[in-house]
Amino acid sequence: MVDLGLSEEQAAVRRLAREFVDREIAPHVIAWDRAEEVDRAIVKKLGEVGFLGLTIDEEYGGSGGDHLAYCLVTEELGRGDSSVRGIVSVSLGLVAKTLAAWGSEEQKRRWLPGLTSGEYLGCFGLTEPGTGSDAGNLATRAVRDGDDYVIDGTKMFITNGTWADVVLLFARSTDAPGHKGVSAFLVPTDTPGLTRRTLHGKLGLRGQATAELVLEGVRVPASAMVGEEGKGFSVAMSALAKGRMSVAAGCVGIAQAALDAAVRYAGEREQFGKPIAGHQLVQELISDIAVDVDAARLLTWRVADLIDRGLPFAVESSKAKLFASEAAVRAANNALQVFGGYGYIDEYPAGKLLRDARVMTLYEGTSQIQKLVIGRALTGVSAF
Ligand code: FAD
Repeated sequence: MVDLGLSEEQAAVRRLAREFVDREIAPHVIAWDRAEEVDRAIVKKLGEVGFLGLTIDEEYGGSGGDHLAYCLVTEELGRGDSSVRGIVSVSLGLVAKTLAAWGSEEQKRRWLPGLTSGEYLGCFGLTEPGTGSDAGNLATRAVRDGDDYVIDGTKMFITNGTWADVVLLFARSTDAPGHKGVSAFLVPTDTPGLTRRTLHGKLGLRGQATAELVLEGVRVPASAMVGEEGKGFSVAMSALAKGRMSVAAGCVGIAQAALDAAVRYAGEREQFGKPIAGHQLVQELISDIAVDVDAARLLTWRVADLIDRGLPFAVESSKAKLFASEAAVRAANNALQVFGGYGYIDEYPAGKLLRDARVMTLYEGTSQIQKLVIGRALTGVSAF
C-alpha cells in the first residue's frame, strides 16, 4: 500500500471504514448480490458512522473531513461492495455535496441533515432514454405555472432511484436564459405524478436500486430550483467533476480487493507440486494488478489534494476516473485468471469484482467521454 503520509485523522477514518466493511458488509456480499438488493438497513448504519456526511459542514449535520478522507472511505467501501459504495457516491457525492455547494440556505437546512444521517437517500436524475453522453440535450421540461414549475419527462438508469426520498433533477426550464436552458430542481420522490420502476438484470452493482423515473405533471414550487435558472448544466457538470473522483476511488477499492484475493488464493492453490504463486506467469498477473492499484490510487489522491487546496481539478478527475475504471476492469479480470475455473463461480470474489468494475467505464461519462474532456483541455479544441 502506497501511503503518502496520511494525517492521524485520515488514518483513523480509514481504519474505521475497514472495520465497518469487515463487520457490516463483507459477511453479506454474496447474498446481497444474489438477491439483487443490499439490506436497506445499511443506509442508516452508513449515516450513523458519519460516512454519508463526509466533507459536509457539521452545521448541516455533516461529519466534516477533507476529500482525501472521503476517498479513503470510498475506496474501502468499494473494496467491500461496489453496490454500497455507489449508494454513498450518489447520495453524498452527487446530491448532498452539490446541495452544499449550490443550494439555498433553506434547501440546505431542509435536506442536508436527513441526507447526512441516512434518514433520507438522494438520487441524481440527469440521464434520459434518449440522452446519455449528450446529457445537455435532455428533453425533460419544467414549465413555469404561477409560483410553481410543472415537470414532464423520463429519467433512466438512476442509482438509488427506487429508494430515494429526493431527486436532484435536471430539466429544460421554459424561457431560461443561459447555458442550454437546463435548470436543477430538488423533487421529493413522493410528489404526485412521479413513478419509479426498478431495473432488474444488471450485469453488476446488482445490490443497488437502479430505476427509471417517469414524471407526469409533477408540480414543485419555484423555490425547489437549485442555483439560478438556466445554470443547471453547470450544476450537473460540477457535481460530476467531483463525482468522477469518487468513482475512481471506488475503482481503487475494487482493484485492491482483486489484488488481496489473488495473492491469498495464489498462496493456497497448488498445481504442478507447488503453490501457483511460485509460477512466474501467475506472478505476472499479480504484479500487473499491483501496479494498476498504485497508479490508480495516486491519480485519485491527486484529485482529492487539488480539491482540498482549492485548485482546478476537473481534468485530473477525468484522468483518474478514466485510468482507475479501466484499471479496475483489468485488475478484476487478472484476478479471475489467477482463480482459474473457481473465478467463474460467485463463491469466489473475482467474478463479482469484474461485473461491478465494468460499469465504471460507462457511467459518470464513458471512457470515450473522459478522453474528449482530456483532449479538449490539451488541444483547446472541443471534439464533442
Ligand atoms: P451513449 O451515450 O448512447 O453511448 C453509447 C456509446 O457511444 C458509448 O461507447 C459512448 O462512449 C459512445 N459515444 C457517445 N458519444 C460519443 C462521442 N461524442 N465520441 C465518442 N464516443 C461516443 N445517470 C444518471 O443521471 N444518474 C445515475 O444515478 C446513473 N446511474 C447509473 C447506473 C448504472 C448502473 C448505469 C448503467 C448507468 C447510470 N447512469 C446514471 C447513466 C450513465 O451515466 C449513462 O449510461 C452514460 O452516461 C452513458 O450514456 P448511454 O448509456 O446513453 O450511452
